[in-house]
Amino acid sequence: MRYFPALLFLLFPFFLSAQSADTAKFVLGKIEYAQHSEFVKISEVYANKSGMYLRKEALDAFILMQKKAKADGVSLTIISACRNFNHQKSIWEAKWNGSRKVGGKDLSQAIPNAAERAKEILKYSSMPGTSRHHWGTDIDINSLSPTYFDSGKGKKEYEWLRDNASVFGFCQVYSEKGADRKYGYEEEKWHWSYTPIASQFTQYFKRNMSAKDISGFAGSDALPFTEVLKYVDGIASDCR
Ligand SMILES: [Zn+2]
Repeated sequence: MRYFPALLFLLFPFFLSAQSADTAKFVLGKIEYAQHSEFVKISEVYANKSGMYLRKEALDAFILMQKKAKADGVSLTIISACRNFNHQKSIWEAKWNGSRKVGGKDLSQAIPNAAERAKEILKYSSMPGTSRHHWGTDIDINSLSPTYFDSGKGKKEYEWLRDNASVFGFCQVYSEKGADRKYGYEEEKWHWSYTPIASQFTQYFKRNMSAKDISGFAGSDALPFTEVLKYVDGIASDCR
């Protein structure tokens, strides 16, 4: 099992180069997952709702991980998986225009300065086009509440993932900020990334994407591209 992700890691660059015409669209989430055979619908055995998609390799790895966790008395449920550009745009714009409150506030009123408002949203939400959820490699597990993982059942679940997820190819991409991860989103104990494929998308984004790719939504020009890139690149070293 330990060699399975390593094998994919070797093969995936060939996949990306073979599909280069489409890769930018995949990286930016400008696709409908149901129309592409590399994505599969997640059974409700593994998720808290129907209709979510993931890359087949990532789901297969999650299924193995969930089985092992269950044997250890830990329950893992996917609560978010693929989200395309338009899905992320609806999340981002709701926070941008105030229809969805952030920390109890309507940010369109509380933070009129565009750059400052974008940075507040970017504590936990990606700009459309820059989310790892576009890739089909990243999942949110069990809860989106930081405090849920601080004690009791949540703490046990997090500690299990921290100690075991790498065996199945997953890493905590938004780890605690510090020497290993200096910038980017706040810590997310729920967000796990299937490294063998996701690391290739990270590299692709850094090499090929530019300011013109981050457009088509409210607030898209609030920050220079160099700042936006820090959120894509602000990841734990074991996820690179
Ligand atoms: Zn997430």
